[in-house]
Amino acid sequence: MNAHELIRSSAAVMAAKLASGEITSVELVQAHLDRIAAVDGGDRGVNAFLHVNTEEALAVAADVDARRARGGSDARELHELAGVPIAVKDLIVTIGQPTTAGSKILEGWMSPYDATVVKKLRAARMPILGKTNLDEFAMGSSTEHSAYGPTRNPWDLDRIPGGSGGGSAAAVAAFEAPLALGTDTGGSIRQPGAVTGTVGVKPTYGAVSRYGAIAMASSLDQIGPVSRTVLDSALLQEVIGGHDPQDSTSLTDPSTGLADAARLGNVKGMKIGIIKELHGEGYQAGVENRFNESLELLRGAGAEIVEVSCPNFGYALGAYYLIMPSEASSNLAKFDGVRFGMRKLPAEGPPTIERVMAATRAAGFGDEVKRRIILGTYALSAGYYDAYYGSAQKVRTLIQRDFAAAFAQVDVLISPTSPTTAFKLGEKLNDPLAMYLNDVATIPANLAGVPGLTLPGGLADEDGLPVGIQLLAPAREDARLYRVGAVLESLLEAQWGGPILDQAPALAQTAAKEAK
Ligand code: GLN
Repeated sequence: MNAHELIRSSAAVMAAKLASGEITSVELVQAHLDRIAAVDGGDRGVNAFLHVNTEEALAVAADVDARRARGGSDARELHELAGVPIAVKDLIVTIGQPTTAGSKILEGWMSPYDATVVKKLRAARMPILGKTNLDEFAMGSSTEHSAYGPTRNPWDLDRIPGGSGGGSAAAVAAFEAPLALGTDTGGSIRQPGAVTGTVGVKPTYGAVSRYGAIAMASSLDQIGPVSRTVLDSALLQEVIGGHDPQDSTSLTDPSTGLADAARLGNVKGMKIGIIKELHGEGYQAGVENRFNESLELLRGAGAEIVEVSCPNFGYALGAYYLIMPSEASSNLAKFDGVRFGMRKLPAEGPPTIERVMAATRAAGFGDEVKRRIILGTYALSAGYYDAYYGSAQKVRTLIQRDFAAAFAQVDVLISPTSPTTAFKLGEKLNDPLAMYLNDVATIPANLAGVPGLTLPGGLADEDGLPVGIQLLAPAREDARLYRVGAVLESLLEAQWGGPILDQAPALAQTAAKEAK
């Protein structure tokens, strides 16, 4: 297998071929850079990358190859994923590469420090291929709110790749990277995973450090893995997870044994709960059909499937769209034309601090970001605080209680990840409420801090597009998600005769282009 063929395999397979000396990291990184050059640019390119980190990625790869060639402790001390490349969502700060958050206000800004997760990637010697596209400040479900143009779904270039982390999901789906980092505040790892036929995980809140992830809503934000297999996400979470004294909400005892759990291969005797409120009405028929098939497969593998009710989940979306904008309005106050990135002088009048701030924020932020800042400021204002923000916090407590009651009955919960498959670019851009509804099934996990995983469940009958299956576990029980997810993945792949991404039509066309 040459490196250009190898880019279609999993990160675990790539790591094994590097360890055995069958290929070098330089060959592997170069093959991904070639793939990016072939499919990412131009009018109808995937546009997953905002920045490609060619020189540094090749230098890290060459260093890994040299250590391996030297042998001895240099080779022995290499991490299992050393030399396997990765892409990073452009909300996560990196030394030596620009960080834009998908916004004009940060165009050209260079971070003076690395996020903790980036430090961990460097320590594992994983070459960073570049920074991926996203909705501005991670606000959106389609990546159309990026100031740098939308990312296209590799399954159908006229459709959205999900959001906000559409760039990371599309890069992995289009074989531009085997792994990527995302951030998930209300579903931005899982919903893009669902609509691109990839795997994505929102770890338990606090399991992965948020230090260096530009904050959107701090009590909901979480960094997590994006990959093509469940095992690959487990391996990546083991690299990026763990306690970090620089994040005050970091857990001291996060879940361990994630890759072992993915390799365990059985669900016999486990109890899996269907969330009554998260399927059925409002969910596309093809999504519902694939969901039911997955339930049958798990039942066949010896799991007990029961239905549970989470009666307050119907209020989750409403509560989220008060809490998230409230926290964001405060977090985004620091983009003031003084401290970071863009500075715009007022068109008229003296350049006082207030006027510079207003001119900078007017020019630097896009419509969706402005909408949420206004919403959040309003919800927090005196006289409205109790009615809006206060009520939303009470709903949050009720949702946490729903999860606690459900997990008293079952080991994991299951639902579709997203109510629909990928919609057309532009279809929901001018209808914020329709856009927000994409997250109806993913948001409860963020409000409660519990972990969630999405994996591809097949293709919808109506449109042949990927459907995502979501698994949820109690806080700190991330390992359970990997265990159940890996079993379901292997049962599904046995039906399909291989990975779902082998069936993507647009990918076949782009592959032909690359071969020329
Ligand atoms: N799509 C959701 C939103 O627009 C979630 C965003 C996220 O998880 N970063 O808020």
